[in-house]
Amino acid sequence: MNPNKPLVARNIIPQCQKCNRGDRNRWVYDEKGRVIKLADANFVKNFDKEVREIIYRILYKEFNGKNPNLKK
Ligand SMILES: [Zn+2]
Repeated sequence: MNPNKPLVARNIIPQCQKCNRGDRNRWVYDEKGRVIKLADANFVKNFDKEVREIIYRILYKEFNGKNPNLKK
């Protein structure tokens, strides 16, 4: 379910090798097997430019155009 957590019974969604390979630990799932978020934020680099621009606009607005990694 969450590749960032230990591989224990309550954190596993049984699936065949083919299905599991496609995921490559990119997503976090809820208890019903639905994707709820990215497991690794770097995966956004693989999104289409249009989607990355939308994400950028969302984050730009959220952080008021300021880099949240810079100290005030
Ligand atoms: Zn399968």
